[in-house]
This record gives sequence, C-alpha cells and structure tokens, in this order.
Amino acid sequence: MGVLVKKVELTWWERLYVVSVAIGMGVTFKHFIKQLLTPTSKRYTIQYPDMKKEMPKGYRGLHELKRFEDGAIKCVACFMCQEACPARCISIEAEEFSELNFTQGFEEKRPATFKIDMLRCIFCGMCEEACPKDAIWLRDNYELAAYDRLSMNFGKWDLINTYAEPDGKARLTQAEESPMTPSRRTVAL
Ligand code: SF4
Ligand code: SF4
Repeated sequence: MGVLVKKVELTWWERLYVVSVAIGMGVTFKHFIKQLLTPTSKRYTIQYPDMKKEMPKGYRGLHELKRFEDGAIKCVACFMCQEACPARCISIEAEEFSELNFTQGFEEKRPATFKIDMLRCIFCGMCEEACPKDAIWLRDNYELAAYDRLSMNFGKWDLINTYAEPDGKARLTQAEESPMTPSRRTVAL
C-alpha cells in the first residue's frame, strides 16, 4: 500500500524560525511570571529535594517488605508474588524458619533472599495483590535513582528498610534481627 506524502511549503514568515522561538519564549516567560506571583502552596513546581511531593492515595512507588511489631518479617516465602509478577523481576529463595520447628514439627518458611530488579519492575502492584500475608506493599516513595545498574537490584534488606520506622528510629540492619525471632503466626499456633 502506497503512502501519500503531502509536501508543505513554508512561507517566508514561517521559515524565519526566530519568530516561533520568540513566541515560545513568550509563553515560557508568561508562566514564569505567573508562578512567581502564585502563593507557594498553590504552585505547580516544588523546591525538590527540600520539599517532597505528596503522592495521591493508591500511588504505587517503591516496595516495602513488612514486619510484625516484634520485628519478624511477615513474608512466608510462598512465591505467590514471584509467580504473579508479569515482569519476572522478583526472585526468592526460601529457608525453613521457626523456633518450634525443632520441638513441635512446625515447618515455617521465610525468604533467605528476596530480590527485585527495579529496572524491570513496571510498578503494576500485582505482587501486592497476590500476597496472602499482606507482606509486600508498594508505598508512596518515588525517589528511585542510582549511579549503576547493580544498585537497582534491591535485596531483602533494601526492601525491609525502604522506609524509616514510623517512630523515627534508625533503619534496621541485617545484624539487628535475631535469626530466631518467632513470627506472630508461629506464636498464634
Ligand atoms: S510491581 Fe509488578 S512488576 Fe514490580 S515487582 Fe511487583 S508484580 Fe513485579
Ligand atoms: S511477599 Fe507475600 S506473596 Fe511474596 S513470597 Fe512473601 S508472603 Fe508470599
């Protein structure tokens, strides 16, 4: 099938691009003055990074692996999120974990490793939807930048510590969680 190409002849005035550039600059200048005269709270622009934009409810930003109040990770390494992920960017390795494993025969799992390749993630929220334990959330943090590709491969401790504790406590490090902390589920059993 042929393609019809219509050649448009520019007038002498249109070929004088400097006029179009001047008109464009006029529009920019008009908005610049308008923003200067608008109160700070109503401006479109913010003084980032000193100011942070409040994201709408339901915004899907960076992931967080949730914990119980006692610090134990909620994730039970069931692989549901990994299966649901359309971008195939989650990889989990499970390990057995429970202090009751040894005495009462319970076999509880938790992730030994939990990785998300943020460069492949499309922030669809399917992992959050699929999780039966409410263990993975997409929160409202939109600050995702790094100097190299490797840093965008978030591990378990990155995902746990994406957000500071609500009481302002320092973010936990791997060494601070006891490997034998029983999860709430184990206690309930
Ligand atoms: S938000 Fe979507 S693409 Fe990203 S890890 Fe979750 S399921 Fe995968
Ligand atoms: S985050 Fe949720 S869905 Fe994913 S492995 Fe853990 S418990 Fe399962």
